[in-house]
Amino acid sequence: MIWSKYTIKTTTKDADLVSAALMDYGIFDIQIENNVQLTDEEMNQMYADFVKELPEDDGTCFISFFEEFDEEESPEARKLRIDGIWQGLKETEETFGLDPLEFSSETLDSEDWENKWKEYFKPFFVDDVMIKPTWEAIPEGAEYSTVINIDPGMAFGTGMHETTRLCLKGIRKYMKEGDTVTDLGCGSGILSIGALLLGAGYARAVDIDPQAVAVAEENFDVNGISPERFEILTGNVLKDDSLDETFSAHPADIVVANILADVIEPLSAVCDRYLKAGGIFISSGIIDSKEQLIVDAVNANPNLELLDVVRGGDWRSVIARRR
Ligand code: SAH
Repeated sequence: MIWSKYTIKTTTKDADLVSAALMDYGIFDIQIENNVQLTDEEMNQMYADFVKELPEDDGTCFISFFEEFDEEESPEARKLRIDGIWQGLKETEETFGLDPLEFSSETLDSEDWENKWKEYFKPFFVDDVMIKPTWEAIPEGAEYSTVINIDPGMAFGTGMHETTRLCLKGIRKYMKEGDTVTDLGCGSGILSIGALLLGAGYARAVDIDPQAVAVAEENFDVNGISPERFEILTGNVLKDDSLDETFSAHPADIVVANILADVIEPLSAVCDRYLKAGGIFISSGIIDSKEQLIVDAVNANPNLELLDVVRGGDWRSVIARRR
């Protein structure tokens, strides 16, 4: 199978008209790339803190669509069809007085298309912990304490994000053999899996997103962790009373929470109940501008003693001990 990618260079103001013109040709699945900043409303959504800063918006907008061709279709027939689309877009440009459109195309052979993304995922280290996708072998001569196998998928937590790395480092530093771990916002399960491979006795993980829970279950299995050593729950750590009951009934040695600051803040007021005396709270997902908010929230909880604020790029991990 041959894939082609067609790209139209236009402007943000004309993007809707160009997209509508493409629909006339039955092209509904398009990719739009521009540097328009998110609105405040969009920024308030869950993951806006994770969105990268964009370069300045100069109004340029790229609209792409992909086509899969049967190898039996003659190149001439294909060209004719695409030329027809270009022609139609040119007419739209003239009729509506759009800024000049530019076209480009590239062919992606199916091998590339299916495997190219894998190039971005190579084995890497967080301290002495190796994290790798399942399709990569352990590099020869590599020295490591343990290996976490995680494939990128539908849940956050490949280990490449600074916040995950900060939490893993915290676990490495504070966790003792046989400890119990509560993992709030487990995503791919990477932190619980890492903790168990590093010697934790038991991990209790939770995520609000059922899809993440399914991915985490699969990842525990892929890493050969026996089902008696963990439990994965689904729910909202701020709202579900049954989770609150479960975590308070089974206080852990380590509570790790890599969620956004807006969740960590209220969590700091209650998480002492999820910890044994002397237990450690490791939090991240905290963008630098929210560091003080979390430090204040931890200090406001009389049962917590602030231990450390660790920096990784623009991100912070705030660590506290249950008195
Ligand atoms: N622990 C992983 C994933 C962190 S991403 C890692 O460190 O890489 C944060 C995760 O928290 C997401 O999977 C998200 O679905 C989950 N989450 C966000 N808000 C939550 C809430 N209120 N309760 C439970 N999980 C939540």
